[in-house]
Amino acid sequence: MICPYCGHNDDKVIDSRASDAGKVIRRRRQCLKCAKRFTTYERVEETSRVLVVKRDGTRVPFNRENIVRGVQAACGKRPIPEEAKSRLVDEVEETVHREYEREVPSRAIGELVCEKLRHLDEVAYIRFASEYHRFKDLGEMAQEMAELKERVKDGKEQARLF
Ligand SMILES: [Zn+2]
Repeated sequence: MICPYCGHNDDKVIDSRASDAGKVIRRRRQCLKCAKRFTTYERVEETSRVLVVKRDGTRVPFNRENIVRGVQAACGKRPIPEEAKSRLVDEVEETVHREYEREVPSRAIGELVCEKLRHLDEVAYIRFASEYHRFKDLGEMAQEMAELKERVKDGKEQARLF
């Protein structure tokens, strides 16, 4: 570290302690030339987090769970192995992180899921596509589908979808 007092580029660490529940390491250093002391902080770099741009323009952190719930709901009781579903979600997630650096339109995620479901199971694909186009947003759709499932479970509403 360059000494803030004399600009010399060599020091020794005289004290080192974790703070903020281990997220930050604070180091007291002493310049080997002028012997003055200064402090540095070390923290893990924030990993790049992709934001999803919803149709109304708001941005929310990318959330794998929304895709999982959307896919689960679309697949319903179709004989599709869990492994195939989670692989599909993995692929969508990887594509998003590979092709979008900071922001991804929610529409693009929906289309990716549609495309992959189409190869996996036609019925699930149609369910997903029709629901997705109705809601226009994966998070909203996942929530609605979860609520619907609860209502169906309660017997208050027959499955109008499945
Ligand atoms: Zn110095």
